[in-house]
Amino acid sequence: MSRYDYDLFIVGAGSGGVRAANTAAAQGVRVAIAEQRYLGGTCVNVGCVPKKLLVYAAQFSREFEAAAGFGWTIGKATFIWSKLIFNKNKEIKRLHAIYNNRLQKSGVEIMIGRAQMLDAHTVAVDGRQYSAERILIATGGWPFVPDIPGKQHIVTSNEMFFLDQLPKRIIIVGAGYIAVEFASILHGLGVKTTICHRGPKLLRGFDEDIRDFLADELTRKGIDILFNTDIEAIESTGDCFAARLIDGSKVSADLVMYATGRTPNSTGFGLEKLGIELDDEGAIKVDNDYQTNVPSIYALGDVTNRVNLTPVAIAEGMALINKLYADKPKPVDYDNIPTAVFSQPTIGTVGLTEAQAREKYSDIDIYTTSFASMKNTLSGINEKNLMKMIVVRSTDKVIGMHMVGSDAPEIIQGMAVAMRAGATKAIFDSTLGIHPTAAEEFVTLRTPVS
Ligand code: NDP
Repeated sequence: MSRYDYDLFIVGAGSGGVRAANTAAAQGVRVAIAEQRYLGGTCVNVGCVPKKLLVYAAQFSREFEAAAGFGWTIGKATFIWSKLIFNKNKEIKRLHAIYNNRLQKSGVEIMIGRAQMLDAHTVAVDGRQYSAERILIATGGWPFVPDIPGKQHIVTSNEMFFLDQLPKRIIIVGAGYIAVEFASILHGLGVKTTICHRGPKLLRGFDEDIRDFLADELTRKGIDILFNTDIEAIESTGDCFAARLIDGSKVSADLVMYATGRTPNSTGFGLEKLGIELDDEGAIKVDNDYQTNVPSIYALGDVTNRVNLTPVAIAEGMALINKLYADKPKPVDYDNIPTAVFSQPTIGTVGLTEAQAREKYSDIDIYTTSFASMKNTLSGINEKNLMKMIVVRSTDKVIGMHMVGSDAPEIIQGMAVAMRAGATKAIFDSTLGIHPTAAEEFVTLRTPVS
């Protein structure tokens, strides 16, 4: 008989925590999971899932526009934000029930409440204490907003999913995933959108061609992008807000959203008292097996601030449980993780950027193509695709693939499988295309750029 109430106590029921709980319980581990806010964490409630639903909503405006060239006459389209949010909330509620049922069926004890770490084996939830042989922290992250005068006027992605009404004009600060995705959503829904970014380009870390191409496409659609600037202060003018920029100019909007990154949820629940080591950004430090400096305590997902993506947290959850309880160590391979940005147009990417490739190899070939989709011949919509492939000349190995355009995330998911299987350029060349598609361009790239 174990001297602990549970074998594993998980703090945080987001993507990583829930997957770890279900995987462990399926192996007979006695698991409890505590969640203070909502089952499914950021991804299900204020991230990937509702974001994608809003992306779909925003895409209709372009489809309506495109339809005319194909013979359709569509009356004046109207959009009701509150209806979208109501339906989105209903869908999230459905997902909560699925998460809840799945955990219960697996035999996981669910505790709704704020967890407090008391010692290396004890957690309190709403005043009750529970002991566990091991504790897993999977508390995720939270939007970071820099301190500026007028900070009280702004919203973050958290609030965007629950706005009572759509603003007519919005300023979005930042140029990462969340900023460009929300800029595209809001623009698609008819909001006059301005991105305000401290740097010279969108999406730091992405391939330079992709960054330039996306900025051109967003600008062409009518999104204003202010580069190399920052907001000094935000003032309320009664009926709207005025953002004062560092050059003294002012931009007015009905709403100001900050998408300036996320910080790990690692404070305020007792980690400090236990002496758990954090890095300079507040992320929990873990070794390759997700173990903290307190041996009975583990952490994974966004709270460790490594690769902050849902599928990564899920993979980490499974890897940890398989190592601890199934004696089947299968570490997560962090190489070639595909990722997407659901901007409009979308981005899909896997492997090295051109700059990273040039740093690592002395003999690379770059293949690119840029073209208008067949659909746009009749739609009259001026939107282009960009595809880019990076190949090591001496080995013929494909080491990077990047795309901006319709269905880029769907296309790149398949390309990632080929790349992880070690596909060479010759394999791509010998693969027949599916005609007519955009994806076939990836198997018909013949001449490297000089
Ligand atoms: P990112 O880290 O991607 O981007 C933050 C942006 O804010 C950058 O442009 C950064 O500029 C800017 N910024 C940071 N600090 C300041 C500051 N003090 N003042 C002004 N600008 C600032 O964060 P996001 O919030 O967009 O996304 C958070 C994470 O969520 C991402 O890392 C991603 O992993 C995940 N995510 C993934 C999605 C997906 O897979 N599709 C979708 C949404 C989120 P600079 O570049 O100069 O540092």
